[in-house]
Amino acid sequence: MTRHYAGEEIVDHIIISERAIDERVAEIGGSITREHEGHALRLITVLRGGLFFLCDLCRQIDLPLTLDFMAISSFAGGSGGAVRITKDLDDPIEGQRVIVVEDIIDTGLTLNYILSVLRQRRPASLEVCTLLDKDVRRIVDLPIAYRGFSVPDRFLVGYGLDLDARLRNLPYIATVHEDAALPAGPLVVPDA
Ligand code: 5GP
Repeated sequence: MTRHYAGEEIVDHIIISERAIDERVAEIGGSITREHEGHALRLITVLRGGLFFLCDLCRQIDLPLTLDFMAISSFAGGSGGAVRITKDLDDPIEGQRVIVVEDIIDTGLTLNYILSVLRQRRPASLEVCTLLDKDVRRIVDLPIAYRGFSVPDRFLVGYGLDLDARLRNLPYIATVHEDAALPAGPLVVPDA
């Protein structure tokens, strides 16, 4: 039976299926396990989009690992990737092997800022793992150790990526119709 997701009508094309995501996440988890054999890892993600990838990825890594989270807000109308940290990590990362787990890298400005902040805390290593890479839009060059898929310059939703804070729960990655807009208010009318 095909599952239905509220708001799914605005999806245009599914560009990465649930199955393709599963397979790629398992491959990346395998690579991380091999390349960090004998070491513990700290996986860090930036709330909220990266959560879905993080949850699946960490279960494909066969190493001792801990998780930590940051949250940021971009300055409205700002340029140069200026962001404000609204939730910092709970634990120090000094001496740790750190992997920043991202849903998507677009211009790279946000991640560039986050990496510069984390680097000052002297981790043993600092790598980037992103599920999606909109590489044609890149402004700053970033070292990406693990990359799931290269994606076109289209607005994408699903598997953590939102439109107006919704549609993160779609199990696939999709484009939306050109004039896509979600109806205001709750998508499901509550029972009277
Ligand atoms: P960057 O600083 O690399 O330009 O921006 C990265 C952030 O922009 C991502 O973490 C994500 O929040 C947002 N973003 C970039 N492309 C998309 C997209 O296609 N769909 C959604 N929902 N968010 C995107």
